[in-house]
Amino acid sequence: MGSDTDRADTPGGGSGSRHGRPAGRRVSRRGLLIGGAAAVAGGGAALAHDELRRLWWQVPGVSKPRKEGELDHPGAQWTAASPANWRLADRPDDYRIDRVIIHVVQGSFPVALKVFRNPGHGAATHYVVRKDGHVAQMIRELDVAFHAGNRGFNERSIGIEHEGFVDRPQDFTAAMYAGSARLTAGICVRYGLPVDREHIIGHVEVPGTDHTDPGPHWDWDRYLKLVREALPAARRAHG
Ligand SMILES: [Zn+2]
Repeated sequence: MGSDTDRADTPGGGSGSRHGRPAGRRVSRRGLLIGGAAAVAGGGAALAHDELRRLWWQVPGVSKPRKEGELDHPGAQWTAASPANWRLADRPDDYRIDRVIIHVVQGSFPVALKVFRNPGHGAATHYVVRKDGHVAQMIRELDVAFHAGNRGFNERSIGIEHEGFVDRPQDFTAAMYAGSARLTAGICVRYGLPVDREHIIGHVEVPGTDHTDPGPHWDWDRYLKLVREALPAARRAHG
């Protein structure tokens, strides 16, 4: 899971930076809002707000159209994380995606979904995998999820949570390994990542983290073998 330090990922903090735009742009948009309100007599503020929303999508680097419920991993269940737990981006065009980060929830699948929907949590992953292999997608791969406790790693990674506890090896079921491996294989195909331990890492390996997941019982050799075996199907699925 993420940590309190994930909060530091949000530039500037506070509600105004929910989508994490650089400070300079925030200031200039605020200027635009004031200017727009002044230019329109009566009810101007509301109009300016609409204008602001329209212009939002014209900010360079946030240009790809998107729809609520759209998925990157075919067959996943879409359950949106709170927008407070990620920020809008346009990956891989603005940030290159160069790794997958493996987490363990320290709790159940429903608990992970619940906390990632909570704006007060301050962290969430793109995906959560259940013990039976079922996958929930909570954040688009285009966007930056706060999960690694390291801004640079967040910007360039895709985070996957796994139901269970690090000290309970029986939680890491064959079905969960297989479902997660299919997901990671798809990510490797989408972004051209080699299937190795440089590009598929544990949260514990992120510089600066105090998290230990996925822990010593996560079987990396088994997982990477399953990811490699899932590559041909992932390539076919992506045409
Ligand atoms: Zn973690």
